Amino acid sequence: MSNQQEGGEIGPVEASILLTLIRLNGKCLQKDLWKMAGTNSKVGIPALNKLIKMGLVTKRRVSEKVYEIKLTRKGLREAKRLEAKASVIPEVDLNLLATIPCFYCPYITSCGVGHENSPETCEMLGSWLYNLAKLKDMVNLEAQ
Ligand code: SF4
Repeated sequence: MSNQQEGGEIGPVEASILLTLIRLNGKCLQKDLWKMAGTNSKVGIPALNKLIKMGLVTKRRVSEKVYEIKLTRKGLREAKRLEAKASVIPEVDLNLLATIPCFYCPYITSCGVGHENSPETCEMLGSWLYNLAKLKDMVNLEAQ
């Protein structure tokens, strides 16, 4: 399924903002959004502007320098679609979860999309995901 929408494509930062907003009942103050979405204002603001342009969120000034960000109906639909896509993991193996490198990583508190340490560029996480994909292929082959 494509993430292509009218006005642009939904990338990881946009997806993270939408998923954060749906977890927060559809709205959040902009100043709280970056941390909750695992990003920062430098990459978050362009992503947010893109979502506004795509008609997926609105931004309303509530007081001086304080803005409320809210999902539109269209944004809620898109966030639900992303949420459903993210939950397509049929069974959670706790032993497997315990091997996720992030749990043991010294950068866990500073890591985030667009940060110096980021899941998008992390070699440790990349290798873990690669091995997981290989394991999944092996299991599928054994099942045939
Ligand atoms: S993505 Fe990489 S750098 Fe970030 S917490 Fe996980 S292992 Fe650490």
